[in-house]
Amino acid sequence: AAMRHLPYFCRGEVVKGFGRGSKELGIPTANFSEQVVESFPSDISTGIYYGWACVGNGDVHKMVLSVGWNPFYKNIKKSVETHIIHTFKDDFYGEILSIVIIGYIRSEKNFSSLESLILAIQEDIEEAKRQLDLPEHLKLKEDNFFHLPEGKPVNH
Ligand code: ADP
Ligand code: MG
Repeated sequence: AAMRHLPYFCRGEVVKGFGRGSKELGIPTANFSEQVVESFPSDISTGIYYGWACVGNGDVHKMVLSVGWNPFYKNIKKSVETHIIHTFKDDFYGEILSIVIIGYIRSEKNFSSLESLILAIQEDIEEAKRQLDLPEHLKLKEDNFFHLPEGKPVNH
């Protein structure tokens, strides 16, 4: 069920999240606006995915993505957050983030400690890096989707 919609192309504005302190953990997550999240297939599985991401018309980088429940809306709405596997000089709130979601890593889990959460995320990142080096996944990095003129947010 998690794979049915993949690959999934998505583009939209990066907005302020709800300050869960992702950046303090060393794993900032760029949050999509509510509008983008609403356009997602409603039956897409929550959990952790991997794929490619690009800010504005910058370079395309590996990413891990979490689809979860949005605490700000009392967990009735989903949140979609992208951690780009790249070190940026500055924040990019308000910019257009383009992503293609390619594969599913795991479902959402509860962790008994912060250390085990961080460890799991580091493993997700390593898994994403390995997967994205496969030729069939590298292909999508070159997809025209990332080279189109920037403009209106597009979902498809
Ligand atoms: P918020 O709760 O506002 O989402 P985070 O702590 O999750 O705050 O930080 C996310 C922000 O950090 C992004 O919106 C972006 O502007 C910035 N950022 C810097 N580097 C990255 C990165 N590698 N991946 C994702 N976001 C990043
Ligand atoms: Mg965030």
